[in-house]
Amino acid sequence: MNEKPQYTLNERDVERDELEVDVLLVGAGPANLACALHLQGLLKKRGLEDKTVLVLDKAEELGHHTLSGAVMNPIGISELVPNWKAEGFPIECEVTYDAMAWLRPGGKHHRFDGMLTPPQLKNHGNYIVSLNKVVRWLAERAEGLGVDIYPGFAAAEVLYDGQRVLGVQTRDSGLARDGSRKATFEPGMNIRAGVTVFGEGTRGNLAKDLIGRLGLDQGKNPQTYGTGVKEIWEIPAQRAKELYGSVFHVGGYPLGGDGYGGGWVYGISESHINLGFVVGLDHHDAKLDPHALFVKFKQHPFVAELIAGGKVVRYGAKTLPEGGYFAMPRFVGDGFCLVGDTAGFLNTATLKGIHLSIKSGMLAAEAIAEALAAGDTSREKLELYPELFEASWAKQELWKVRNFRQAFDGGMLGGMLDAAVQQVSGGRGLVRRRGGHADHSTTRKVSESRFSEPKYNDTTAMDKLTDVYFSGAIHEEDQPSHLLIRDPSICVTRCTEEYGNPCQRFCPAAVYEWPQGADPEGVQINASNCVHCKTCDIADPYENIEWVVPEGGGGPKYIDM
Ligand code: SF4
Repeated sequence: MNEKPQYTLNERDVERDELEVDVLLVGAGPANLACALHLQGLLKKRGLEDKTVLVLDKAEELGHHTLSGAVMNPIGISELVPNWKAEGFPIECEVTYDAMAWLRPGGKHHRFDGMLTPPQLKNHGNYIVSLNKVVRWLAERAEGLGVDIYPGFAAAEVLYDGQRVLGVQTRDSGLARDGSRKATFEPGMNIRAGVTVFGEGTRGNLAKDLIGRLGLDQGKNPQTYGTGVKEIWEIPAQRAKELYGSVFHVGGYPLGGDGYGGGWVYGISESHINLGFVVGLDHHDAKLDPHALFVKFKQHPFVAELIAGGKVVRYGAKTLPEGGYFAMPRFVGDGFCLVGDTAGFLNTATLKGIHLSIKSGMLAAEAIAEALAAGDTSREKLELYPELFEASWAKQELWKVRNFRQAFDGGMLGGMLDAAVQQVSGGRGLVRRRGGHADHSTTRKVSESRFSEPKYNDTTAMDKLTDVYFSGAIHEEDQPSHLLIRDPSICVTRCTEEYGNPCQRFCPAAVYEWPQGADPEGVQINASNCVHCKTCDIADPYENIEWVVPEGGGGPKYIDM
């Protein structure tokens, strides 16, 4: 067992309210809501309606912290709610056209569509959705079946009894920036449960603690992540109508062969498009800036012509768990399950995870229902969840791309060659099982950087601060920073010289600033800008930044994203 220190902002030795439920789900994303919905149905079938199921979410309102590229394979929702279309599941449109575009640095591009669209990027039969609307729809149904959902409750730490998870403690509120109590101080609650399900999204702070403490990643590849940056644009009506229902995935410029990633453009309505860029955080360049790559992507004529005359209406960023099957941690233990992005349910090759998240929640629900019926929520009982996964279409899908992401470790060209071999070898590729490296360990010294900044403007190539405005991010200003620097001396004694303080670049929300001529001791942390993407927690080369939850209700406000 790997004992790691736990970082929390909660006070010690304070009396707390206690709440007890049968099942507690931390996070109201698609995986946990699918789990709650399916579980409630299973409990009813077994005559266990008296069991209590509670979902907590740190967002002020459901969906506010849910960001997705949002093309959905319908296989997951079809299993969860067989009549999903007739019952009003929110879809923007069915995909009517898909293509891959390869951008060249000089401004030209090549388009591959029809028969030439790479098989992983074919999207006919899939749907463009707003995950934010999907989450609210799932939540309404779950509440209709008796699930309790509490938005605005941030889970700050896991309650343990040895290796058993007993529940969580929510974040204290009403602490001032210096940690002293304000008149509004309210200690967080202890919420105890027979089973706690962690569906906190990518790199959840509680799941991170749990994985480290119980060694859930032993024998697995290190998880590798990408940071995706996204905007929604309102564009001239005629062009939006032409693009409505279209899905473009984009490679080449600005990354070229240097790192893993690419962009997308989806026609989401007769007035709006959704565009974004994702880059792997194993990129070696110390000056890697996902937002700057996105700006360059928008400046390429292929994208610039699509957004010309339009205006940005929303902005957001999130990390994705790209490591695939061999990087998924153990999903269960005594009294807990991990689901969705938290457990690595993402098909990186197809850039899709909603259907896998829904399936993971459903499979966890089946194991939990069995465990509750037996009155035994030990790891042994909950092992049914990974067993069901191994026998499911979700495993088959992930097995076929098990080496996909790691094949790109040596660069784009080698990765594309291996990906082609994987297509004809059932996912094996050139090597039976590829390994990997934790992203923070791959950064090279800043003296080797080749990264160049884009030219910003006020209309199409906005800087980070302008974009943050469109994320709606807001936090109570007078609270302790939820971005903890473990050892501030490293920032100035080593990081400045070795890596050039990369936090000021990899954060897509301008949270970390190193003002010229300011106190040399210090990075300035604008915590209120934080969009909760977790890039800093993953990419800092010294693992010196710890993201913990702010007071409940703080964060971005993703609406219709
Ligand atoms: Fe993301 Fe960290 Fe920046 Fe917040 S501070 S937006 S979690 S990189």
